[in-house]
Amino acid sequence: MTKLISHEIDIVKSETSKINAVDFDNLTFGRTFTDHMFICDYENGAWQTPRIIPYQPMTMDPSARVFHYGQAVFEGMKAYKDADGKVWMFRPEDNFNRINKSSARLAMPEFPKEYFFKGLTTLLQMDSDWVKPGKGNSLYVRPFIIATDPAISASPSNNYRFMIICSPAKAYYTDKIKVLVAEKFSRSANGGVGFAKAAGNYAAQFYPTSLAQKRGFQQIIWTDADTHEKLEEAGTMNVFFRINDKLVTAPVSDRILDGVTRKSIIQLAQDNGIEVEVRPITVTELKNAAKAGSLKEIFGTGTAAVISPISAFEHAEELFELPNIDNSYADTLKDTMLNIQHNLTEDKHGWRYGV
Ligand SMILES: *Cc1c(COP(=O)(O)O)cnc(C)c1O
Repeated sequence: MTKLISHEIDIVKSETSKINAVDFDNLTFGRTFTDHMFICDYENGAWQTPRIIPYQPMTMDPSARVFHYGQAVFEGMKAYKDADGKVWMFRPEDNFNRINKSSARLAMPEFPKEYFFKGLTTLLQMDSDWVKPGKGNSLYVRPFIIATDPAISASPSNNYRFMIICSPAKAYYTDKIKVLVAEKFSRSANGGVGFAKAAGNYAAQFYPTSLAQKRGFQQIIWTDADTHEKLEEAGTMNVFFRINDKLVTAPVSDRILDGVTRKSIIQLAQDNGIEVEVRPITVTELKNAAKAGSLKEIFGTGTAAVISPISAFEHAEELFELPNIDNSYADTLKDTMLNIQHNLTEDKHGWRYGV
């Protein structure tokens, strides 16, 4: 059981706002942060009184375990503002459940739901000017937990810090990307931490991805570690393949992250009468479909870009380019998602969460 010390949040408001110095038309993703941040420390077996304070650097002992053993998990979600100035989130309960699933795998304590939602909504209310209206504009919200014990013995920490920081993001229309299908490196393995949003999963991807980038590919399509045959994820996104008029995506597992965007896209595709097959899909099937002309689209899904279309893939030195098509599933489904997120359309699944 997680003991709660207090239901209140201690708040220290920033005396000034940095917002006027920010050029909202020229934002680099993840570089600008709002005026406040949420902090809650875990000490003596309990989460302590949560705080919201001005966004600022913090000091930490160099021996803090997060620096040595990577005991850290995070989440990524977004807040949107509609034309009436109301702020919304999208399925935040799924992110809350997932951070605790990730924490459990990293031997970290569960974070209380009450604190998560109270912290999130209070912070977003305080920094609501930072959420700009307009389709595609959003405030990226980053909850994370780090191990803070000042001790370098290799065991789980006794102390942790949960935080939420927020960064404004503009509507971005990504160019189509080219991807390399992994033949040597792996992102995850059976029994591993691939399903968790563990910080170290990202660190381990940087090197193989940089090799792919040197060869002109922006991302890697990860395959299963045993055979490198099953197509699993694209970079840090889930991945969908359109074969003729059907969408295929791999089932979630130990190795594949259970994306909120992935499951929302599956639902929206089905709502639109598109057949979705959730099943393993192999490199061989993909290449055969590309050769036969039945492979119409590939796209990644994730909170940051919603949908990232992929224009080409390479495997075993064979490059396959996808045709440009009108009314792509990627464009249609992305638009449907954005309309729900920005309160521009009916939300029949109850996914919007008013802040
Ligand atoms: C975060 C993440 C995703 C996407 O998840 P969403 O909930 O849709 O943002 C997919 N794959 C990996 C590896 C991720 O870390």
